[in-house]
Amino acid sequence: MAFDSLSEKLQNVFKKLKSKGVLTEDDVKEAMKEVKRALLEADVNFKVVKNFIKTVTEKAVGEEVMKGLNPGQMVIKIVRDEMTSLMGSEVSEIKLLPSNEVTIIMMCGLQGAGKTTTVAKLAGQYKNKGRKPLLVACDVYRPAAIKQLEINGEKVGVPVFSMGTANKPRDIVKAALSHAQKNDINLMFIDTAGRLHIDEGMMQELQEIKETVPVNYTILTVDSMTGQDSVNVATTFNDQIGIDGVILTKLDGDTRGGAALSIKAVTGKPILYAGMGEKLTDLELFYPERMASRILG
Ligand code: GDP
Repeated sequence: MAFDSLSEKLQNVFKKLKSKGVLTEDDVKEAMKEVKRALLEADVNFKVVKNFIKTVTEKAVGEEVMKGLNPGQMVIKIVRDEMTSLMGSEVSEIKLLPSNEVTIIMMCGLQGAGKTTTVAKLAGQYKNKGRKPLLVACDVYRPAAIKQLEINGEKVGVPVFSMGTANKPRDIVKAALSHAQKNDINLMFIDTAGRLHIDEGMMQELQEIKETVPVNYTILTVDSMTGQDSVNVATTFNDQIGIDGVILTKLDGDTRGGAALSIKAVTGKPILYAGMGEKLTDLELFYPERMASRILG
């Protein structure tokens, strides 16, 4: 289950806090030391942890908390609120253009992050909401990726626009947009090519797509199980091409939570959705408050 290992550690800290009727400043500081260790072990970004602990400690050692009826519970609430705000506070939804225009969403990410799966999940959700989506196959390096997109598109009932591997992505997106406009399509998802590592050619290609068609959203998919690596990937993509949001995949298998807790704070970009499994229905809006509850029990 998601966040199991972090969750267990934090719950142990909180159990101790709750068992004390009165809290001293030292009790809070000791507890915060343990929270800090748990977050670092969960692969949360060091600076994020430092700021988090500082804020929580400042709030928790205040008069009102320490003298309150249930200081342990109050400290836990402060942790919960700060954790929620770390992940973005509110749910961030994609804002589509009116349905008589084509909204263009470009999906990018490293190979294996879950891009092709996620783009189909998302297209399927929008189809179910009454939109007319199109999946555009732009991974011109891996015929298998195009095939996979076609299979996924069929499963979710969304058409796939492909020109094989002989054309450049910028030519494909141009043709796809005119196809969309002629066929009453109002939502276009571009499945771009990933690489195993960040690579100049990949960034250039994404930039070219952006220069060719009016991309409304650039969304990065990152594998949450890679912890801080995924945060670094998000930072690089954001610096080089500019992203509007992140989808965290494989959260179902992430016991630590480092990516979920760091990405928004480090990049300033919201987490839009969480991938919760391999099935094409396993995609949830990312609710920071619910995520904090999953972590804190
Ligand atoms: P791409 O190379 O970025 O297009 O990645 P794929 O979409 O091919 O996904 C790589 C692997 O991750 C596949 O086996 C997917 O089934 C799996 N995957 C993608 N998203 C999730 C998720 O949210 N949870 C789990 N458990 N597996 C996922």
